[in-house]
Amino acid sequence: MRLDEPYLLSAAGPHPHKYVLPAITVAKLTSTIVGLHCVGLPPADSRTLAAIQPETLALDNGTFTSLSHAASELRFPTVVVQQNGPDLVASCACAIPKTSLCEHQALVLLSILQRKELRLFFDKPARHAYMRTLARDYGLEQAEDLDEHFELTYTRPSLVSAVPRRPDLYAVTATTKQELITQLLPTKRRPAADLPPANSCWC
Ligand SMILES: [Zn+2]
Repeated sequence: MRLDEPYLLSAAGPHPHKYVLPAITVAKLTSTIVGLHCVGLPPADSRTLAAIQPETLALDNGTFTSLSHAASELRFPTVVVQQNGPDLVASCACAIPKTSLCEHQALVLLSILQRKELRLFFDKPARHAYMRTLARDYGLEQAEDLDEHFELTYTRPSLVSAVPRRPDLYAVTATTKQELITQLLPTKRRPAADLPPANSCWC
């Protein structure tokens, strides 16, 4: 069964891959809540969480694996995390029935919670607070939905940035002002001999 395949709740037993945290977003999620939904949560030190890397990442939707298992036969399975309306849904390809979060789902959720570069893709209030600082340079600090104007980009291993969606948006900062002044001012004065007499003009 594919991770994104619909599954009928009337089917017997828990879903083989999917676990739903009802009525919660990443903005409200805590590591305590993740622990309550996971039986046998493995040690989640910063090195383990840093090894979690997205394979795809978009707003409210990401596919993850762990680099720590890359050379091992026990490859870390693919985990998909999606904000599906009011519910946070985590899917894992491992064979453990999803009566609770499996360790892979739990580690990915903890990594999203603790790493800003991942969290911003799922946590709208945190993302907009991050974008609001940038939006001032574009005169867009009052815009209601900053996701309409800026797009998050992620670069491995831990870099996140926001870029304008429209190429014609121009930031006005001390640096860009200076660049503009440099472009507009003549690079050197015309020699006095080339100047027209005071009572005439260049035509
Ligand atoms: Zn799993």
